[in-house]
Amino acid sequence: NLSDKLDRAFKVLKGQGTITEINVAETMKEIRKALLDADVNYKTAKAFTDDVRQKAIGQNVLTTISPGQLLTKIMNDELTELMGGATAELSFPATPTIILIAGLNGAGKTTFTGKLANFLKTQKGKKPLLVAGDVYRPAAIEQLKVLGEQIGVPVYANMESKDPISIAREGVALAKQNGNNVVIVDTAGRLSIDEAMMVEIEQVKAALNPHEILFVVDSMTGQDAVNTAKVFNDRLDFTGVVLTKLDGDTRGGAALSIKSVVNKPIKFIGTGEKMDALDVFHPDRMASRILGMGDVISLVERAQQQFDEKQAAELQKKIRKNKFDFNDFYGQIQQIKKMGNMKDLMGMIPGVGKAMKDIEVDDNAFKSIEAIISSMTPFEKENPDSINQSRRNRIAKGSGTDLAEVNRLIKQFDDMRKVMKQMSNPAAMANMMKRMP
Ligand code: GDP
Ligand code: MG
Repeated sequence: NLSDKLDRAFKVLKGQGTITEINVAETMKEIRKALLDADVNYKTAKAFTDDVRQKAIGQNVLTTISPGQLLTKIMNDELTELMGGATAELSFPATPTIILIAGLNGAGKTTFTGKLANFLKTQKGKKPLLVAGDVYRPAAIEQLKVLGEQIGVPVYANMESKDPISIAREGVALAKQNGNNVVIVDTAGRLSIDEAMMVEIEQVKAALNPHEILFVVDSMTGQDAVNTAKVFNDRLDFTGVVLTKLDGDTRGGAALSIKSVVNKPIKFIGTGEKMDALDVFHPDRMASRILGMGDVISLVERAQQQFDEKQAAELQKKIRKNKFDFNDFYGQIQQIKKMGNMKDLMGMIPGVGKAMKDIEVDDNAFKSIEAIISSMTPFEKENPDSINQSRRNRIAKGSGTDLAEVNRLIKQFDDMRKVMKQMSNPAAMANMMKRMP
């Protein structure tokens, strides 16, 4: 399902410790792939990842939440928005309110007709009447009658007639007569989109003038669900979508794309065969379900850790080849600074907090180092050994420091490089250890 795929996307996440242009772009590429794999259509997936990227970049990552958590939060908000934002309620503008149910065979129309009647009766205090409008399959009429009996809701059927329009009209008349304030009309589907079916349901719509037309679609059909929704919406201009068979394993893909492709709200989801297995659709809850929240966060964190390790390995390689230069040095300083206020950071380590209280850690400590490195030319940064006396003088002037400070930094850098090289060479390390007392 989609959360698994997202998990995998995060697993290969080549992110850094913070949200930057590059790692967000990489992550979003993976997420887009995962969304496409989960049957989210291309346009939706692209729009989504573009939005998330824009919102994520430039976010100030504080020490209180990890970039992964922040990214998850942004994604959660965006997913919620993508699926319609707020919960879309059914409207009851007239008595009786007429609700037409449409969709392909096997989508779950008849089951949903029963579930909706049950929901309206038990949760909304309505008095529904069901109308059996599937005239092609006698078993379907029987199925609805059984459901009606089970939930204690009357069902109007006419076994003699093959005309869904007159049956629906008779149903509405009966509702008025019996004081039913909601009429739910179940209709026939086809195995696939079919012109005759479309014409028939259009005619039923024209005759009934329903207040709600709910398009029922099997969420397990993935991208087909989106295509079917588009065709039905073009012909019927339905008022809402019902996603069925969302039990347990989420195929979030359909839920994500349908709203953005047809721009109609998802109103209900079916989560099982039983009459009470119906939920009002809440975009925010669905978003959390798709993201799997906690799981995703920990995966992002693990991915970040993997990235850090990879970066460290690359650094090691450079050090071993004696290629560690001022660019790397500068990068290291940025890494440290990204972690936020050093004192706060160390204060979070259990036991350290108290000890740190009296020690001043100066976050500006890097300022002059940064200034000096910034005043070096690209050539000098890559070739630290080239920085002779006249270059040092120029760098000191350019950085607003003095020669002594520049000398000190270069000396520190050289010492560091030596130690690093020794530590990165296992043979040299072993030698050093042998020489130890
Ligand atoms: P219709 O042809 O569109 O009227 O589809 P039905 O209502 O007859 O449903 C087709 C099959 O899907 C039946 O076996 C239903 O029990 C099953 N079904 C419908 N909705 C759900 C659901 O939300 N979850 C599950 N697991 N099965 C469902
Ligand atoms: Mg049916």
